[in-house]
Amino acid sequence: MSPRLDVEALVQSGVRQIAVTWVNHAGESLVKVVPVRQLHHAIHTGVGFSPVSDAFRSDGVIEPHHRLTRPDGDLRLKADPDSIALLDAANGWAWAAGDRWDRDLGPYAADQRTFCRTMGRNLERAGLSMTAGFELEWVVVTPDRHGVPQPVIPGGPYGADRLIEGLDYVSALLMALDQADLPWIQFHPEYGASQFELSFSPDAPLNVADGLIRARLLIQRVTRQFNWFCSFSAKPRMDWVGNGGHLHFSVADAQGPVLQGGPGPAGLRQEGEALIAGLLQKLPALIALASPSPVSYLRLRPSTWSAPYQVWGVENREAALRLIPTALDHCSAHLEIKAVDPTTNPYLLLGALQALVIHALSHPSTLPAPVMGDPAGMEVPPARLPSTLVEARHALEGDHVLRSAMGELLHGSLLDSFAGEINRVEDLPPEQQVASTCWWPIVGGLFQDLSPRNQSNRG
Ligand code: GLU
Ligand code: MG
Repeated sequence: MSPRLDVEALVQSGVRQIAVTWVNHAGESLVKVVPVRQLHHAIHTGVGFSPVSDAFRSDGVIEPHHRLTRPDGDLRLKADPDSIALLDAANGWAWAAGDRWDRDLGPYAADQRTFCRTMGRNLERAGLSMTAGFELEWVVVTPDRHGVPQPVIPGGPYGADRLIEGLDYVSALLMALDQADLPWIQFHPEYGASQFELSFSPDAPLNVADGLIRARLLIQRVTRQFNWFCSFSAKPRMDWVGNGGHLHFSVADAQGPVLQGGPGPAGLRQEGEALIAGLLQKLPALIALASPSPVSYLRLRPSTWSAPYQVWGVENREAALRLIPTALDHCSAHLEIKAVDPTTNPYLLLGALQALVIHALSHPSTLPAPVMGDPAGMEVPPARLPSTLVEARHALEGDHVLRSAMGELLHGSLLDSFAGEINRVEDLPPEQQVASTCWWPIVGGLFQDLSPRNQSNRG
């Protein structure tokens, strides 16, 4: 038992039940709830979960051609005692991240959170450390009579008018984050209609991934208390800017932060140059994990600050890798990847990123020149990152570093999931693709029909 876990103290503080979540290949948070008195059992023995849940598509249908689509097998979802946090204290809810184990054998080979933890250990073994932080964007909406999301909180981009119009909502949300001990460092109304953004404190990758999942749950919860819906879809409406989930991160070795204090461009150390050069080459494969849905690629468009070109730049918001040198507040120089959206499975993304960081620093390559200005305006625009899920899946399929870091079951079953999403939308025009996931995280949308008849029609 973790020294930090004291069930009696949880009971005394009013906790009655724990929601244990894990995140499947489609990026969806799945859950089993246990009463607080069963917590030890949930930690040590775990609760049952079928491996087929990784074959769920983003519309909730089980992908028929997926290698995990079979009725047999069972996994144990074990609550991680180190992750326990409050979810909704007033109603007695706590939350824990779950790791999936094979019945008796140890951690399940395709468990996303275990992958993230293992890559963290590898990073440490390589003498490196990483700190990361997400920016999370979402829109607050309600359906019109055709089921199309409509904005509900008026006010302009970054506007104090929108803050005041939505102050009851924002106050409730920030209070819920504070009560759940989820450290946020900045909040603002975003550019799009009824769009908001929260930035979270930098932390170790596993904690950051857990934090993103808790944040998505809390935002959904508070938004529903106001009878609205939140959408984290990368593209909630064709005519709207997208929702980003930009990822910031810094890396240090025994000598300190690698992105500052050196003689290279913008103060990069040699290791920092190797880091950017190596990551730049591998970004196409990482994009499948960062932008995992077909509509993610309707967001990744030039000149929208989603940074779809395979270049790096100093403080360039259109560069796939944006270097932010040490700032006035003395935070470490860090990199930002904007081609990430809130539907990402953060365990897969951060696990893969750590694997690529290790690879970049152990196989140094030459850093190309930084790009200034919008690459879309260049006479010969540079290479684009994948511009469809088909291209991103292809890059992930061919990436040997990620294949070997993930292992065959995780890598292969993930490719099956992407293939399922690709087939799902094959005959859908972009507007219908957007409509099919515009209520994400609500799987299948507001008006889903998962009846067996409907499933067999689709399957
Ligand atoms: N909403 C933009 C995106 O899709 C980002 C705007 C910004 O924060 O720079 O990533
Ligand atoms: Mg933003």
